[in-house]
Amino acid sequence: MKNNTITILGAGLIGSLMAIYLKRQGLDVQIYDKRPDKRKTPYDEGGRSINMALSHRGWKSLEQVGLKDKVLPLAIPMYGRKVHDEHGGTTFIPYGKANQAIYSISRGKFNQLLAEEAEQLGAQIHFDHKCSEVDFRKHEITFETPSGIEKLSPKVIIGADGAYSALRMSMQKQIRFNYRQEYISHGYKELTIPPTAQGEFAMDPNALHIWPRGKFMLIALPNPDKSFTCTLFLPFEGTKVCFEKIQDSQDLDTVFRAYFDDAYQLMPDLKTEFFKNPTSALINVECYPWVQGNSLLIGDASHAMVPFYGQGMNCGFEDCYILNQLIEKLGTNSWDLVFEKFQKKRKPDTDAICQLAMENFIEMRDSVADPKFQLRKKIEAKLHELYPKEWIPLYSMVTFSDMSYTEAYAQGKLQESIMDRVMADPLITENWKNLDYEDIINQMETAKAV
Ligand SMILES: Cc1cc2nc3c(=O)[nH]c(=O)nc-3n(C[C@H](O)[C@H](O)[C@H](O)COP(=O)(O)OP(=O)(O)OC[C@H]3O[C@@H](n4cnc5c(N)ncnc54)[C@H](O)[C@@H]3O)c2cc1C
Repeated sequence: MKNNTITILGAGLIGSLMAIYLKRQGLDVQIYDKRPDKRKTPYDEGGRSINMALSHRGWKSLEQVGLKDKVLPLAIPMYGRKVHDEHGGTTFIPYGKANQAIYSISRGKFNQLLAEEAEQLGAQIHFDHKCSEVDFRKHEITFETPSGIEKLSPKVIIGADGAYSALRMSMQKQIRFNYRQEYISHGYKELTIPPTAQGEFAMDPNALHIWPRGKFMLIALPNPDKSFTCTLFLPFEGTKVCFEKIQDSQDLDTVFRAYFDDAYQLMPDLKTEFFKNPTSALINVECYPWVQGNSLLIGDASHAMVPFYGQGMNCGFEDCYILNQLIEKLGTNSWDLVFEKFQKKRKPDTDAICQLAMENFIEMRDSVADPKFQLRKKIEAKLHELYPKEWIPLYSMVTFSDMSYTEAYAQGKLQESIMDRVMADPLITENWKNLDYEDIINQMETAKAV
């Protein structure tokens, strides 16, 4: 397979960053997206603007393509979780060391910046081109456009067309394609906390705010315009508090006053937004192989995960970083080899982060409110302070390092089992300061050696 024109499906975050990487390799890049060009037609995000947490893996890729300084002004550092209890009290749980933060960034603006950078480097974006089918036998893509059907016969295709990827759907019609999708029981809805009358942030802007309530939760991330974008995660149906049971303003008032009263006081547009904004589903997608002939899936198209580790985009950016590394190593004359190596290397890691994202949902909505969980985090932070190389909390391995997700997962499970033993001490709340930390490290080293 030899060709230096690359067709990318999807000008989302991952497609745009991949285009930047490929342009820097001197390749011809053509991107096709079903959306209209937002610069020409105002595009309604439809209450799905989404603020995201950008962390180390994402920054690393942005730095490599020289974009870190351009992205920084769009991002607000969040140094930890601010947990709001039902009585309006708050507890701050740092994410890592004092200077370690994840960064809140609006998906829309960030996407626009990346797409424009790709264009400036010479990538061509064809908006209003919805891929409806890829015929692998004929090497042909079919697009639906406002002026009718268009067909194209590209040599190399990278599918970055998101969780409902058209390329992946065409792959599903091929033999021996494995595919698994799972909708979780919860959906989400976006809401807003506007700036105060004085034009200030209504809460601490340098934290990710979280109202964990067992089976459901609300989170809020800061925006540069001093508002917060909130996301309400509730079961669709079947529980005392669920989307199905909030039918009118009174139901909404009752839920918010009972569970999120301090946030409620800061949300003047709650009713309008709640009933106007869509309730969206959350999906986990795993599939394999990611390669079919001359086509490769990356980003959410190959591994859409639930958003509870804040890694979907970061992981997709890491896909681009690793694919670029392989292109540098193997050149642009053997895309089949590059794609094959990429999927073999990357698949175990994306499986690990998909799994961690599912598990973190329980931590966010439930455990963070538990004082024992908070103590556990403190003990782990102390271990990390005393033995920075030997003990790295799982969250830090995933968020503040580029250790492979597989390795982080395995090490995290080991540490979890040791911490379970530590926390089993009924007097741990009193004894934790006098723990034998060296012994804990020894236990871990022994377990690793087995
Ligand atoms: C509520 C929520 C919160 C999240 N929070 C975080 C977070 O904090 N941190 C994080 O790292 N990740 C987060 N994510 C995940 C993140 O949004 C995704 O991982 C990321 O957007 C994936 O980028 P992508 O480019 O692969 O797909 P997308 O962003 O979905 O982009 C796909 C692009 O392809 C185009 N497209 C789709 N179908 C076609 C077609 N048939 N033909 C042509 N074009 C097509 C679309 O128009 C779009 O432009 C969150 C996700 C959700 C839902």
